Amino acid sequence: MLTLTCPCCNIACDETELHPGGQAHVSRAGPDSGDDAFEQYLFLRKNPRGVHFERWRHAMGCGKWFHAARCTVTLEVFGTYSAQTLEPPQDILDAIAARRPDWQGFA
Ligand SMILES: [Zn+2]
Repeated sequence: MLTLTCPCCNIACDETELHPGGQAHVSRAGPDSGDDAFEQYLFLRKNPRGVHFERWRHAMGCGKWFHAARCTVTLEVFGTYSAQTLEPPQDILDAIAARRPDWQGFA
């Protein structure tokens, strides 16, 4: 079972209390973007086997969105953090690099 700690209310909750929101850190296509950029924004998402950054909502708790870094194979959670960030905090990136030396990094 996947257990994530909501960074807003600091409660460890299992996946039945959460609602998944897909890939985190997706940049919205601007008004001057071309069709390829708009297609990327609307439809194309990463689906890695390994480290993934995701959006989650604490649906049965505070109701707020947050981000989580976890491994899709082992369900190991590297950390959760505010959804109001443009990229993962450095301490989470360091934790991932320490446990997954072959990880290619956040891009
Ligand atoms: Zn919460």
